[in-house]
Amino acid sequence: MAAFVVDDLQLAPRRRKDHAAVINNVFSVDVEEWFQVGAFENTLSREDWPQLESRVELQTHKILQLLETTNTKATFFCLGWVAERSPKLIKTISDQGHEIACHGMDHQRVFRFSASEFLEDVSCAKNLLEDACGKPVQGYRAPSFSMSQDTWGHYEQLIEAGFRYSSSVVPAQTDHYGAAGLPRVPFFPLEGAEFLEVPMTVAQVFGRTIPASGGGYFRLLPKLLSEWLMRKARKQTGIGTIFYMHPWEVDPEQPFVKEAPLKSRLRHYVGQERMAGKLEELLSQNEFMALEDFLTTEFAMGAG
Ligand SMILES: [Zn+2]
Repeated sequence: MAAFVVDDLQLAPRRRKDHAAVINNVFSVDVEEWFQVGAFENTLSREDWPQLESRVELQTHKILQLLETTNTKATFFCLGWVAERSPKLIKTISDQGHEIACHGMDHQRVFRFSASEFLEDVSCAKNLLEDACGKPVQGYRAPSFSMSQDTWGHYEQLIEAGFRYSSSVVPAQTDHYGAAGLPRVPFFPLEGAEFLEVPMTVAQVFGRTIPASGGGYFRLLPKLLSEWLMRKARKQTGIGTIFYMHPWEVDPEQPFVKEAPLKSRLRHYVGQERMAGKLEELLSQNEFMALEDFLTTEFAMGAG
């Protein structure tokens, strides 16, 4: 496994100055089915998945509509599982000018894989996505942000599989994931390799580090509070927000899993009716772009 010392990690050189007039943020969508989330993993088994109602196409189309209305381009980190079953959806996303990136095959967290299993998982997903959209796939996001100091060697397999960047760590400790202590701005995880890790946005507030990159936090918290956290993080890091969400977050009509624990149900269902409206406001009031374009605009090393 590759050795690393956090203090020695090389940060990506900036192209733009921090005081530039426009603040560029990243909008990303992790494309997976409603039943593939961590919150339901102890209630719905993987063997049940093929029998459950697929809603990812309908949900993703809602998001595409929202992006079109607000004239925004985004990065879609898609599961190979989805590309296998709905290749047309991947092509449609790409044809609308968005970036297709990879979220692994079937949402297995990366620490469950050996090096060779991980290489197989990401290569297989990447091939399915590239076949579906007809373009090279350069970005990767680990399911449930499961990359951390413990899985550092996996960066070698991402490079071997042909990826150029990853956006797979949350530099804070939360109850579900986290890699506290890692840099909060893009960095090169492996010395000598032109491969970037683009961490999710976190804010330091009253001595605590809190995720400020969207997802469930954006859906559950009042919009003003989310925006305050994002502004705070931007002042602290000098870069815009790396925002993410899931297609199932804009679908109040999806099946209700009443067997799931209360905490999981709250995490999954609360705020879904308001989510699309909140997103539309956010996208209209701020500048968001795809991750590959953000790297080209903001950092000396473009992803393209
Ligand atoms: Zn995911």
